[in-house]
This record gives sequence, C-alpha cells and structure tokens, in this order.
Amino acid sequence: MAPEYRFLNVGELILPTDEHVVETWEPCGAEGYSVQPGEVFRRRVAGGFPPQSRDLDDLETSFRNLVAETIAACAEFGVTIVPTRTYRPPDAQARLWRSSRTADEVSAAVAALQAHGRPVTAQILEGVGPQPGKLGRHVTNALPGESWHNIRPAMAADVAWMVDGVVVWDTERSAGAYNRNGYRLFRDEATKRGLYRGPAWDWAHIQAAPGAADADAAETYFASVIGA
Ligand SMILES: [Zn+2]
Repeated sequence: MAPEYRFLNVGELILPTDEHVVETWEPCGAEGYSVQPGEVFRRRVAGGFPPQSRDLDDLETSFRNLVAETIAACAEFGVTIVPTRTYRPPDAQARLWRSSRTADEVSAAVAALQAHGRPVTAQILEGVGPQPGKLGRHVTNALPGESWHNIRPAMAADVAWMVDGVVVWDTERSAGAYNRNGYRLFRDEATKRGLYRGPAWDWAHIQAAPGAADADAAETYFASVIGA
C-alpha cells in the first residue's frame, strides 16, 4: 500500500500546519491542480517553469546521491524519511515569501530587487499577487532565487518522516528500534555527509552548499525560462 501523505494545501502552497499531523488537504480546482495522498504536487506554473516537485531526480546528481544515502542511513535506524520538496519554481517561492508579509514589505522588496539588477525576479514577486497566510510568522526568508530549491537541477530538499504510516513534522517525538526523532536523525546523518542544514527552525530542509543560493545566477535562469 502506498504511504499516505498528509498536507494542508494553503492557496498554492503545501505547508505543514501548526499541528504535527495534518488531517486534511484540499484540492484547489480553480488553478487546475490538486493534491492527493501519495501524489507529487503537480501544477504548471506561469512563465513555463517546471512544476513543484518532490522527486529526488530533480536534484543535482551528487547532491541527490548524498540525500539518498542519508535517507538510507535513517532507514537503518528504523526511521522512514520522505522527500516533500526538491525543486520549487520561483513563483512558488514568491508566494511562500509573500504569504506572511504586508503589501509594504512586498513593495520594498520589489524595489530592492529592481535596484539590484534583478528585474525578472522583481516581476515574479510582484506578479503572483497577494497571498493568503498569517502575517509575521515567516515560512521562508528567501526571496525567489535565494533558495537552493529554485534552480534546476535543485540543490535543496525538504523532508518529513513517517510514524505508523503517517507523515509527521514532529521534532520531539521518537520512534524506531533506536528511539530516534526522524528530523534530528536526518539532520545528523546529512551534516555527517557534508550537507548543510537550513535555519535552525527549518528541520525539514537540507542543502548542498552553505548560505543562500546565487541570486544573480538564478535571475539569469528565470530570464531564460520566461524569455525576458
Ligand atoms: Zn527547503
């Protein structure tokens, strides 16, 4: 039986809620996409960017191999890790960034991007429009292009772990023969292999290199896809 993935689909994002296990997911038919248990999140995004993915094959090869090795190492502890995001197109990143910020904060960021020679990124950030979300509780600090998820092949992966066949986002609970927390084990095993964690609070995230992605290189990629 396929594992059951549980997500809350917020607008155009899939986010864990404050609860450790999300009980519902909602298809958003108007935009022509939906999320089902066990399914990859599929949506053709504006500008021709590939859809969001949680496929490890959308990762850069050597990074993918290390992530796969990390997942296998966790399995030896009886902990099942599931990738929840690999590639995230820049408009999805823009929605994520905007979901916790005011219109003034968005305008300031758009102006700053334009001033720093990233007009395509500015256009993407502006173009996605207002987003639903809770103000102030940021789900990301990375603007489009600053996240290693936004380039292709991607160099960041988000994961969750499973307990009794259900995906959990819990950083305290322990499970498996060795009584380990899935996120803490994953972070240990990943950093042991030379991978980098994200911010301390972002337990789901692992990336191939430290710090933010090269936003100028990303701008060039975005422009090539959009044809700007
Ligand atoms: Zn991430």
